[in-house]
Amino acid sequence: ASFGFKEVAAEEKVGLVGEVFRSVAPSYDIMNDLMSAGLHRLWKDRLVSKLCPFAGMQHLDVAGGTGDIAFRVLEAIRRAETDVQQQSGEPHPSPGVVTVCDINPAMLEEGKKKAIAAKYDLQGLRWQEGNAEALPFQDHSMDGYTIAFGIRNVTHIDKALQEAHRVLRPGGRFLCLEFSQVVLPGLRELYDLYSMNVIPKIGRVVANDEASYQYLVESIRRFPDQDTFAGMVEDAGLQQVEYENLSGGIVAIHSGFKL
Ligand code: SAM
Repeated sequence: ASFGFKEVAAEEKVGLVGEVFRSVAPSYDIMNDLMSAGLHRLWKDRLVSKLCPFAGMQHLDVAGGTGDIAFRVLEAIRRAETDVQQQSGEPHPSPGVVTVCDINPAMLEEGKKKAIAAKYDLQGLRWQEGNAEALPFQDHSMDGYTIAFGIRNVTHIDKALQEAHRVLRPGGRFLCLEFSQVVLPGLRELYDLYSMNVIPKIGRVVANDEASYQYLVESIRRFPDQDTFAGMVEDAGLQQVEYENLSGGIVAIHSGFKL
């Protein structure tokens, strides 16, 4: 496995990734805004609009960190339930639930604080510590599975994808938002310069942690390109696999179904 510039054993990577996210948890949200100039919000909105959340949906957001995806999905589920209620005159019999699963308790704690501060419907949110490679959920228990900026941190990506397939019910949707390979000529060189030189410096000044942000940049560069990753998603048994590049391929959304 790779960690920054070093090659490390797989077990060691788990511990090192844990340290990175423990270290960045308190400054994680502000760093996202600064590093992406707010673009991560649009990318996350796009992920959730592709998901098409529905009334009563049981959704799982893996590597959910501080809850950005989960909050958006929950709001969309509640909007769908309000629409149904207006048509039928009855409240939905089993309102949807979004479960945030993350290996790092420090990130989940930041998410819980955010949920309370922003007055999200706490009944609709579950927080579960767990590893994407061995999810603590039953087979066929989820209508949807998302993972945003998470899968490149996982040691065995193939195991995480198999777990996504296992927990989805037939018909369930898999969506993955991840940094990818820039496809626009010109943008690639600019992006390389920015990510290699500027991001670690922002990490040093804002989060006082250059090494963690150096790791994040390196992990982005080593992640497989769009087509290779699409093949891995298919190998896990997901079907109708496709991807959409956003911002010239800085990030991509891979989509698949368990059929
Ligand atoms: N999804 C959130 C977002 O988009 O803002 C957080 C993304 S953050 C860059 C990556 C998250 O992946 C961290 O919270 C980290 O703890 C989590 N993570 C890393 N390895 C994991 C694993 N094996 N299983 C579950 N979560 C993991």
